[in-house]
Amino acid sequence: MNPTETWFTQLLQEKGVALSPLQLQQFATYYELLVSWNEKMNLTGITEREAVYEKHFYDSVTLSFFMDMNQVKSLADIGSGAGFPSIPLKISFPHLKVTIVDSLNKRILFLQHVVEALGLQQVTCVHGRAEDIGRLPAHRDAYDVVTARAVARLSGLNELCLPFARQGGSFASMKGADPAEEIAEAKRSLVELKAKLVKTHHLKLPFEQSDRHIIVIEKLNTTPFKYPRKAGLPLKQPII
Ligand code: SAM
Repeated sequence: MNPTETWFTQLLQEKGVALSPLQLQQFATYYELLVSWNEKMNLTGITEREAVYEKHFYDSVTLSFFMDMNQVKSLADIGSGAGFPSIPLKISFPHLKVTIVDSLNKRILFLQHVVEALGLQQVTCVHGRAEDIGRLPAHRDAYDVVTARAVARLSGLNELCLPFARQGGSFASMKGADPAEEIAEAKRSLVELKAKLVKTHHLKLPFEQSDRHIIVIEKLNTTPFKYPRKAGLPLKQPII
């Protein structure tokens, strides 16, 4: 085990996430693929091993510190980019049935390659805009948990993500240092989309010590038919 893998394993173990040698190997392969494909396409600005493990891998898995992943069967990750948070969550919790949605096909092709190379089962990578995919019966009102990290402000994000959650399911929005203003701005979108804010969790990354927040929203009822509006509108003209 290299020093990065040692702290990564230990810190996750302290949080109740035990990684087997196979899972550690999957993270290592994911890292290698991320760095090598990043030379040909824009996947991440962070490539140093230590930083990728902290700011992408560990940061993604922090969702499980606040939400019991063993109670979650299906998870949709909207605007997953290079696979965050869904791929680290899937490696750590192999029972999850994961759907990844991203509007950039190059990133979907990368993720399909990652899924195959890591031997991950029950991961579907969908190319399309969340506004369109969230209208399809297979994905609408369907998932236990929906995630999004670094995609948009919460008011617009609610409209992109909540249609995927089942009634009684959750949308977990992974945010940076100070989401208070966004949360205030998103109040009306929650009412319109039949959802309520349950809790905002705070954490710090272990070495960089930067602040992170995870906003947990519960979907109270099925999404009204008019949402999401046509592609582009939720982020250009958010419900505020
Ligand atoms: N979640 C990743 C992370 O934390 O590193 C990626 C964040 S990246 C800044 C935002 C991603 O959202 C991009 O890959 C982009 O293609 C995708 N995206 C933006 N708008 C979208 C939409 N309406 N539907 C689906 N994907 C979208």
